[in-house]
Amino acid sequence: MAFDFDLFVIGGGSGGVRAARIAAGHGASVALAEEYRMGGTCVIRGCVPKKLMVFASEFPTAVADARAYGWDARIGAFDWPAFRAALDAELSRLEGIYRSNAQNAGVTIFDSRATLADPHTVALADGRQISAKHILIATGGRPFVPEPWAGMGCMTSNEVFRMESLPERLLIVGGGYIASEFACIFNGLGVKVTQFYRGAQILRGFDEEARGHVASQMQADGVDLQLGTDIKALEHDGSGYRVKATTGHDGQFDAVLFATGRVPNTDGLGLQGLGLSLADNGAIPVDAFSQTAIPSIYAVGDVTDRVNLTPVAIREGHAFADTVFGATPRTVDHSLVASAVFTRPELGTIGLSEEAARDRERIHVYCAAFRPMHSLFAGRNDRVMMKLVVSQATDRVLGCHIVGDHAGEMIQLAAVAIGMGATKADFDRTMAVHPTMAEELVTMRAPTRSS
Ligand code: NDP
Repeated sequence: MAFDFDLFVIGGGSGGVRAARIAAGHGASVALAEEYRMGGTCVIRGCVPKKLMVFASEFPTAVADARAYGWDARIGAFDWPAFRAALDAELSRLEGIYRSNAQNAGVTIFDSRATLADPHTVALADGRQISAKHILIATGGRPFVPEPWAGMGCMTSNEVFRMESLPERLLIVGGGYIASEFACIFNGLGVKVTQFYRGAQILRGFDEEARGHVASQMQADGVDLQLGTDIKALEHDGSGYRVKATTGHDGQFDAVLFATGRVPNTDGLGLQGLGLSLADNGAIPVDAFSQTAIPSIYAVGDVTDRVNLTPVAIREGHAFADTVFGATPRTVDHSLVASAVFTRPELGTIGLSEEAARDRERIHVYCAAFRPMHSLFAGRNDRVMMKLVVSQATDRVLGCHIVGDHAGEMIQLAAVAIGMGATKADFDRTMAVHPTMAEELVTMRAPTRSS
């Protein structure tokens, strides 16, 4: 049977675009549909604009430091509309690059929503039907707002980059990556930030000591972090939001940002109509090759809810294309994925937390917390944390957790060594680079504790 294309990709984000380009490079005829903007969450309303906002938020501290270092530096007011215009221009530039990279690889782009009509047919919003030998779903995820508060005009990470003006008082709900990163960003930009988190400590799932370190520095920097706290009642009045907390406290805010998790984007795609059953949260179940229970349909990225990070989606898309079109079956190892949380201070992490490692085997923990040279000289009290979790039986480093400036950069390199199976002895053999913060990772001699 002749198909219009060898591959039809639904979704122009990180995973979909990578899969489309690699498949085209393998000689496949490829089409891709994107209903919003090419680039997906990461480029348009996620990692990229977030990181640029992190940079923007760091200048008040940098200027204060500059004074301590002898510069006659003064910080003026932050011009949000000017920053937003520059941000919009940068995102449009990146969107253009995503589009032209795909087109230059020979991918046909449809700027349209696409749904599944049958296992080999996609329906576009204008009614056209397009057939393909394989279909890849890479539709990502979307923010989730708890039911009672949905439709009350509060923001999610989708709207936060598009605000007309910065609020004076912002309430952020949630304690994950997004909530904690935006709490630090807006605090740095001069907004009075309150963060409600329902649990006992933010960043659930990360190493306990690292979480505590991040949270106490955020509080010291001025984020009003209220733990064990959720919204009990929320009312929108003319000027903002009146919020009653479960702790009994009342508060008035100009804006509320829900960062209470994300859900896979599968609503209305037509999957159930094809007999494909989804996970409770809407995720598409796939095997190690990203293939669904319908052999012609594959899925990669956040829509599969495996490890919801851009580089993972890219790897999954690439492995799919190599497997199906490059005659090189490849799977993605989801077991050892480094990541960074761009809070202030940053958290970089790979491998097992101390708690998870201890549940598995006997461990030594090496941990150093110290005031780094750069901020110490500037009179700041910031502390850096470096931690290695080591197997007593094999001496292998099971986890590495870094809290401090540039932790994301440092963990990327530690991830190479740990991915290769480095032992504590390998770290110790490595000559220190002096004076740096990271040298602490190779100079911790005695375990802080063993269990
Ligand atoms: P997370 O799953 O990380 O965090 C969701 C938070 O919302 C948790 O603190 C959760 O609490 C809380 N929550 C969930 N439901 C409710 C509710 N009904 N009421 C109150 N609180 C609730 O999601 P994010 O949205 O922060 O991020 C989504 C994903 O995006 C991340 O998992 C990550 O994979 C990715 N991401 C990665 C970044 C990076 O690499 N730097 C940056 C941003 C996002 P509890 O802990 O109690 O469940």
